[in-house]
Amino acid sequence: MNKEKNNFKYAQVLVDINKLDTKTFSYLIPENLKDEIQVGQSVLVPFGRRKEGLKAYVVGFSDYLEEGIKAKEIIEILESDPLFNLEYLKLLSWVANYYFCDVQTVLKTALPQKFFEKNVKNYRKPKKENLVLKTQKIENNIVLSPEQEKVYQEIKKINSKTSLLYGITGSGKTEIYFKLIEDTIKEGKNVIFLAPEIALVSQLTMRTIERFGSETVAIWHSSITEAEKYETWKKLRNNEIKILFGARSAIFAPIKNVGLIIIDEEHDSSFKQTMPNPRYNAKDVAKKLCELYDAKLILGSATPSIESYYEAINTNSLFKLKNRYNDATLPKVVIIDMKTERAEKNYSLFSKTLKKNVEETVSKGEQVIFLINRRGFSSYTQCMDCGEILACEKCAIPLIYHSQTNSYKCHYCGYELPFDTKCKKCGGDNFENFGIGSQKVEISARATFPDLRIERLDSDNLSKKNEHIEILKRFQDGEIDILIGTQMIAKGLDNKNVTLVGVINADLSFNLPDYKSSERGFSLLTQVAGRSGRGDKKGKVIFQTYNSDNEFLKNAQEQDFEGFWENEIAMRELLDYPPYSKMIRVILSSKNEYRAQKSALEIEFHLTEYIKKLSLDETLLVLGPVECVLKKIREEYRYNILIKNKLQEQGHKTILRFLKSIKLPQDVIMVVDIDPSDIL
Ligand code: ADP
Ligand code: ZN
Repeated sequence: MNKEKNNFKYAQVLVDINKLDTKTFSYLIPENLKDEIQVGQSVLVPFGRRKEGLKAYVVGFSDYLEEGIKAKEIIEILESDPLFNLEYLKLLSWVANYYFCDVQTVLKTALPQKFFEKNVKNYRKPKKENLVLKTQKIENNIVLSPEQEKVYQEIKKINSKTSLLYGITGSGKTEIYFKLIEDTIKEGKNVIFLAPEIALVSQLTMRTIERFGSETVAIWHSSITEAEKYETWKKLRNNEIKILFGARSAIFAPIKNVGLIIIDEEHDSSFKQTMPNPRYNAKDVAKKLCELYDAKLILGSATPSIESYYEAINTNSLFKLKNRYNDATLPKVVIIDMKTERAEKNYSLFSKTLKKNVEETVSKGEQVIFLINRRGFSSYTQCMDCGEILACEKCAIPLIYHSQTNSYKCHYCGYELPFDTKCKKCGGDNFENFGIGSQKVEISARATFPDLRIERLDSDNLSKKNEHIEILKRFQDGEIDILIGTQMIAKGLDNKNVTLVGVINADLSFNLPDYKSSERGFSLLTQVAGRSGRGDKKGKVIFQTYNSDNEFLKNAQEQDFEGFWENEIAMRELLDYPPYSKMIRVILSSKNEYRAQKSALEIEFHLTEYIKKLSLDETLLVLGPVECVLKKIREEYRYNILIKNKLQEQGHKTILRFLKSIKLPQDVIMVVDIDPSDIL
């Protein structure tokens, strides 16, 4: 590393102390350490009244101190091998600047917590080996199909750093990734391979290891233990790992010499961290990393995100796979109108068609999935005469019923309708609030199909260790007839014996009070439909709905991404949503409701003034403040301001500069969420 550092007087070090929002501290470099000290090393420093000293990391050098500060001396160097290099620090400080937090917070996310303990040297090796890593390498003689080969060659040739691979489920995207990975390794470079968290217990992990061998692949995600992370970190440092396979946080692992980053299922919202800081999106961090390393980024999906698709079209970096490998057929999707069922006095959660199909499927020894996409807190209101959903005129999102005020409210702009409102479409007043969850479906299913083996899989199981893995295993082994689940089961599940998927209420997927709700709904329904008929047996899918002429539902029925895209992009443009703007969300929260609201009002007022003064009010649009959908979390009241930035980087900087200058009352907390994945 650079030799000049030996002449510097001070080292900046990073210390892990909760609630301290200073980035770094300066310490004197003692004469005897000057030859040895490097960026990325861990050192021991005196701190406050702690006699034994604190472990810290060297992040920079300087010859000057801020006025009024008296620097103490570094005690010793703990580990002479640096844990990270300058590129890595550059990445972290970009993340800190872009996502409005300090480098320390980012480093905390990136480094296993144990790194800040003093005696890492004595750290115990993991006792149990990761089972997945026991998978054996299998020789293969895969030859790409002509369609795959063409796309592969084009991706190799393209100049732009980011490419989007859009291919329907089963079109052979993974085989193209593997080819590109092979090439990268041959060039002596390394690969980061990201997948949604849920896919990590799936075949994709196994397949990757089968192809490349367990010595070259490491796994990195939130449920990997600290001990495993520490081992992996060491291997990465020694350049022993060629492919790092993981969920979003793997983007911060210190892998050297990156040549390629792949993000599979790139539309998935789990690539964005919603809580706590840094609220980063691994896709954007990956773009930055590719800049720093001059590497390539491949995004892949059967239902790309609107933003990625838009960018790919505009940068000429969109690649399509239109056929399933081996011409396997997509399952047949049927839409069932539940209004008709009700008219015929069937008040059950299951339509006659669904019941009949379940019985037929199970009698053939085949299996069924029920999807019920219900998140606990939310509900929506629907007209039972015509299926219309109460929505805000300005924001095109569903209104939420509030019992305190006995009215329906828009959580973006504050728009409100009284309880005795009439349906805009049919004039009726026969509204119903919906709130079915997976547990209700489970109870009904057990009553309706008393002889069948039924299990439920949702995030409630996740809290009990291994329960979900056991349920999945029993399902794969054919010991469960109907698996009921939330969106968790829509992704990655590959059971060739599943020939029926029933979506209990397809409308739920579209009716969260959020601008991305149709995108998520479309992609969820397309993905879950893709679970049916994956083997030789023909699959069937049933969407139950009260809103059978929903355009998006029809797009999902036909697995027509491009049709969906055209509808959705027009709406985004009309309402200045991404990709036509970048969004910044500011949440003010406090145990004191009045002060949270007052702070939000003041910030909105001053921000609007500031933007007007700069004559940017055409390109920086401020919405709110309004109460958040989740208006009270852990006794904190929450208010929301939304900024639509149509001015790219300059707009971003302008807004953040303003936000940095804000002084808040002690009991009010401000959270800034850049490019939020939802606005709840
Ligand atoms: P996707 O990632 O687009 O969903 P996959 O890569 O999983 O698609 O491919 C679907 C199936 O087809 C897999 O079982 C895969 O092994 C097989 N497959 C894809 N391409 C080839 C190929 N060129 N030769 C042999 N099998 C292939
Ligand atoms: Zn509104």
